[in-house]
Amino acid sequence: MTKEEVRRYLEFYQDLGVKTLYKRQSLAPSPESHAAHSPELPIVLSLGPDHDNLAKISEDIGDCKRCRLHEGRNKIVFGSGNEQAKLVFVGEGPGADEDEQGLPFVGRAGQLLTQMIEGTAQKEGIPIKREDVYICNVVKCRPPENRTPQPDEMEICGEFLYRQLEVIRPRAICALGSIAVKALLGTKEGVMKLRGKWLKWRDIPLIVTYHPSYLLRQYNQNAKKEAWEDLKKVLHYVYD
Ligand code: URA
Repeated sequence: MTKEEVRRYLEFYQDLGVKTLYKRQSLAPSPESHAAHSPELPIVLSLGPDHDNLAKISEDIGDCKRCRLHEGRNKIVFGSGNEQAKLVFVGEGPGADEDEQGLPFVGRAGQLLTQMIEGTAQKEGIPIKREDVYICNVVKCRPPENRTPQPDEMEICGEFLYRQLEVIRPRAICALGSIAVKALLGTKEGVMKLRGKWLKWRDIPLIVTYHPSYLLRQYNQNAKKEAWEDLKKVLHYVYD
């Protein structure tokens, strides 16, 4: 898009009374896409309606068939938790248990995530439970054989994730694993390098930590300690 096209685009939607204009961060930027846009030129593609809310987003998702993931899904996994949460966790995508129940992080990785949230909070004297935070995923339908979501699937579903985050506007976001990092930060930088540092999604502070599924593997015990540190950091930031 040229600057002139962006200006006309913005005016068109402002004329329609759409106040919330989403500057989409690229989901999987390629070197070419960086080269194609000057840094000050926003890529304005996704629009959230006025007075957006989670029910409206869920309604807009509807019986979604926007990408191939709908073919194998049982249930759409929208997200769960407190709509006014101060902290949002973003995972990758539903697994078999989540697909069956329509709820995020309810399988083995989910049990570990619950322990991580509640165990750390309890040790640190922070009175919160899992239901006080909000938990969702980059893609809302289970990828076949639990494969990694593909860039176009992330891009299509990412629009809804962004709207969820804009509606909740938490004090902080915790990105679980590399797919959440890619979707929210548009970087292929690894979790090991990014974890534990304060970053931002738009203007919201974001911390990266390991995905609970990664922590379940026996040989990643050291990463568990690091994940606990990350959790401590974000919980104190949000709830102190
Ligand atoms: N892994 C995820 O990334 N999300 C879930 O909901 C479950 C497992």
